Amino acid sequence: MKYFVRVLRYVRPFWKKAAVSGAITVTVSLLALLGPWPLKILFDSVLGSHPLPGVLVPVLGPIVDRTLLLLLVVVGAGFGITLVSNGLSVANSYLQTALEQGMILNFRSDLFQHTQRLSMAYHDRRRSGGLIFAINFQADAAAGLIMAVQPLVQSSLTLIGMFWLTYTIDRTLALLSLAVVPFIYYSVGYYISNIQDRLRDVRGMEGESLSIIHEAVSMLRVIVAFNRQGHEFRRFREQGERAVGARVDVTVRQTLFSLAVNTATAAGAALVMGFGAYRITQGAMTGGELLVVLAYVSSIYGPLEAISNTIGSLQDRFISLEMAYGVLDTKPDINDRPGAVVLERSRGEVEFSGVDFSYEGRRETLRDISFRVEPGEVIGIVGPTGAGKTTLVSLLPRFYDPQEGRILLDGRDIHEFTLRSLREQVSIVLQEPLLFSGTIADNIRYGRLDASMEDIWQAARSANAAHFIEHRLPLGMDTKLGERGVKLSGGERQRISIARAFLKDAPILILDEPTSAIDSRTESVILKALERLMEGRTTFMIAHRLSTIRFAHRILVMDEGRIVEQGSHDELLALNGLYRQLHSMQTARPDRPGKSGLTPVGAAS
Ligand code: ATP
Repeated sequence: MKYFVRVLRYVRPFWKKAAVSGAITVTVSLLALLGPWPLKILFDSVLGSHPLPGVLVPVLGPIVDRTLLLLLVVVGAGFGITLVSNGLSVANSYLQTALEQGMILNFRSDLFQHTQRLSMAYHDRRRSGGLIFAINFQADAAAGLIMAVQPLVQSSLTLIGMFWLTYTIDRTLALLSLAVVPFIYYSVGYYISNIQDRLRDVRGMEGESLSIIHEAVSMLRVIVAFNRQGHEFRRFREQGERAVGARVDVTVRQTLFSLAVNTATAAGAALVMGFGAYRITQGAMTGGELLVVLAYVSSIYGPLEAISNTIGSLQDRFISLEMAYGVLDTKPDINDRPGAVVLERSRGEVEFSGVDFSYEGRRETLRDISFRVEPGEVIGIVGPTGAGKTTLVSLLPRFYDPQEGRILLDGRDIHEFTLRSLREQVSIVLQEPLLFSGTIADNIRYGRLDASMEDIWQAARSANAAHFIEHRLPLGMDTKLGERGVKLSGGERQRISIARAFLKDAPILILDEPTSAIDSRTESVILKALERLMEGRTTFMIAHRLSTIRFAHRILVMDEGRIVEQGSHDELLALNGLYRQLHSMQTARPDRPGKSGLTPVGAAS
């Protein structure tokens, strides 16, 4: 019920359509009640000798003696009722589709937007396949819930109307037709208590299948490289088969439930038919009246089935909604503080003061980090793998918030600024440059959406990318990239992402091993572009290859979450500590092949 109220707000933008559709629903229900009456009049008053029903005397009275005309009018009326009712149903189906699709899109948009607002920590915990499932499939449930109202109302109205009319014809018969109700009530209760959990499991399994597909598609290169297509296929198949098995099991139960309801209504119809025929022999009712009652009772099956099916699918929807609202109700834990101000353009002065940070479930990823950076300074960050270098720089754009300590930008706590304006101050170039599908120009423009073509070319030139874009790509800037820019080499992709950073023109730059996946010749081209990019910006550059950060004003050496040394290249060498160790490991020449270099093929061991 609580979901129902929450979902109602998605109806608001479409309330006119919903209102018209509601009116049509009521009209169609009333027409359904009229349906069997022409048959009754035909049977009793045209073919038989019973008087016309009182309400029709003013209309049909004058032609009551002209049998042929009366017959035509009555048959025509029957046809007219069906025609109008079908016409209205078509109009209703248009309105409902527009309503349903509009609501689905709005609900899905909310989910999509919210997912983007959730923190990295949230996304670290969730598998992306599950989220895609929630956004794409479970968003239907909100509209589905509202759409279920219409058949429920229509069926209930028809049921009540039919009962009332039957009651005016023959009370005993009407009460008899109610005999099946307790049975149906019990079946619905059984359904709700027994099938709900199974449905939830099935939904979970179907989401899991999507996660496997998503992972396999994004990991395709690894899968192919390890020749694990068969393994992945089996994983997908096994999961899929489990999901199919569970879905079939639930569907069988749902069908059994429908069968039980249908059997009950069929038994009810048989009872009414037998007892009605008996009443005719006693002269208590006419044959036409029995026809009307029988038409009702046999068509009661329709509304009842609709109600039971709707209740069945409602359960499915509630479970989907529970999952979708699970996402929507997750409060983004990285938020704007009340009173946060917009930071126009930072000077680039950064200070970490006593910062401690741990990922969820990990301990002491960063410990007591304190350092200060002047505007325009280039800071190298080095250290063994897992030391916490990437984590350290992720705290500045608030991908994560530290548990202890403060980070200051231009002397103010970064929490005092709006998240959006804070992130505007930072450009990031990653080791693995991520490009979107779309053209080269689109990818560079991502840095500033309103950039002109001239700005884009300028950025490309600064990033040493213009030459290959112009001469080596078939359509230059308009060349379309594959899903993740796979048609370009690593060095080319990196230059595109540097051009993007040029265009963003943020005062702070984070370079996370931007050249470590690139050969030394290309590295020098990229380093030149980066040098240009760093000019006048506060830069944090993480590097494994120490040669790339030699020129940094200052180098922070990290180990196990702490800054263990800091200073310039020469100062650090003189310290004779971890930096010197890393340095001598990288500069050591393998003088005996087979010891520290590769063993030549065929060398005796
Ligand atoms: P590398 O040089 O290999 O990139 P790094 O120094 O940049 O390493 P980080 O990526 O900052 O190291 O990771 C520091 C520690 O935090 C590691 O032990 C890592 O396993 C852990 N870690 C990194 N990201 C997450 C995450 N999203 N959730 C939990 N733990 C994480």
